[in-house]
Amino acid sequence: MATRKPIVAGNWKMNKTVTEAIALVDDVKRDLANCSEVDVVFCPPFTALKAVSDAVTGTHLDLGAQNMHWEASGAYTGEISAGMLRELFCHYVILGHSERRAYFHETDEIVNKKVKAALAANLRPIVCVGELLEDRDAGRTEAVVEEQVRGSLAGLSAREWADVVIAYEPVWAIGTGRTATPEQAQEVHAFIRTVIASMADESLAQSVRIQYGGSMKPSNAPELMSQPDIDGGLIGGAALDARSFVDIVKAAM
Ligand code: PEP
Repeated sequence: MATRKPIVAGNWKMNKTVTEAIALVDDVKRDLANCSEVDVVFCPPFTALKAVSDAVTGTHLDLGAQNMHWEASGAYTGEISAGMLRELFCHYVILGHSERRAYFHETDEIVNKKVKAALAANLRPIVCVGELLEDRDAGRTEAVVEEQVRGSLAGLSAREWADVVIAYEPVWAIGTGRTATPEQAQEVHAFIRTVIASMADESLAQSVRIQYGGSMKPSNAPELMSQPDIDGGLIGGAALDARSFVDIVKAAM
């Protein structure tokens, strides 16, 4: 059985000025600067990446972005490339978040192009998948998640799979205060491993890290994290508060 290092990432979304970002990271650093049992990743907005990069230098804490374009450069107003993120010592990038799929019309095909561009630039993609409430109610959870995993992660080599992180985020649980039960989440995580096994192989299926995301907070994190196929969390709202974020990371230790 593969041992997977837990990974907890804070998706700040469109929150925090540079000043606020530094204050939050400084608070988290007091508790977690030397944390080596869990990969802890801050994903601030683009404007705060440089400041957070500087603030985590010399610690075990890491940096991720929330999005990127698949091209290396060119006439794409408002976009940013993998190479630009790497220049800021960014090591992760969230791709295919449900808000990007819903508001910016990102398809699995687009996410797949971004995943490949990220991996080619040595950035680890955190690829988000998850069903809508209507999918779950109609018994389509597995079909929807499988289509997203297959589409977003198509055509990867074994070496590339090793750098992938998947975030299972049921859309009905994001920012709603409604969390999947540990059993519901575990069931989908285990299912995602069967999909990876059929796309790649069993050993990769057991070694790829799969985070849960969707209203995770200090009170529900311990039970979610104790599920055998849940390897950490992608945290939205609770990542904006240092105490909550630290407590969630501690639950993953
Ligand atoms: C997210 O947006 O990735 C997320 C999990 O948000 P929240 O924790 O606020 O539900």
